[in-house]
Amino acid sequence: MAPLATPPHRTGLLVIQPVKRRQCAECHLGPLRMLVLEDGSPRCLDCADLGHLVFLPRGDTALTRRSLEESALSAVVVRFNRRKSRYERQGVLVEEAGLARAEERCLADAEARRRRRMRDARRRAQEDVRFAEAFGAEIRRLFPGCPADRARDIAGHASVRGSGRVGRSAA
Ligand SMILES: [Zn+2]
Repeated sequence: MAPLATPPHRTGLLVIQPVKRRQCAECHLGPLRMLVLEDGSPRCLDCADLGHLVFLPRGDTALTRRSLEESALSAVVVRFNRRKSRYERQGVLVEEAGLARAEERCLADAEARRRRRMRDARRRAQEDVRFAEAFGAEIRRLFPGCPADRARDIAGHASVRGSGRVGRSAA
């Protein structure tokens, strides 16, 4: 976000977390935690017809992006950082139903990733078994005197991924 000394003018709604104590110019409620500037005057979210939106703090980019996609009405929430002399994004205001849908999509993604990890782990385990079988057969071919169960044992140890024991065990 570019440094801005005045509230950034942008398409889409902008909600400000005031640094100073501010009251709504319309209903005089305050101090306000969040406000909208309308013609330079602060309005509370209710008077700005944004009271039904829920605040989603910044941090989870996927959830934020999807919440914005799923909300017909949304606003970016900023707060002035005095030290840096600029407004900084604090999060977004989105529709509760939109946030719920976005959370479902993120959960579905996490579930899909979990299933993929399990499939990958199963496939690797199968590869390990196939490798151990082939390796066992090769040990028996090279060392005909080696008992079958001993060859299987060696191959099993050697084919555990990342064991670093292939050379030593085979030797
Ligand atoms: Zn008000």
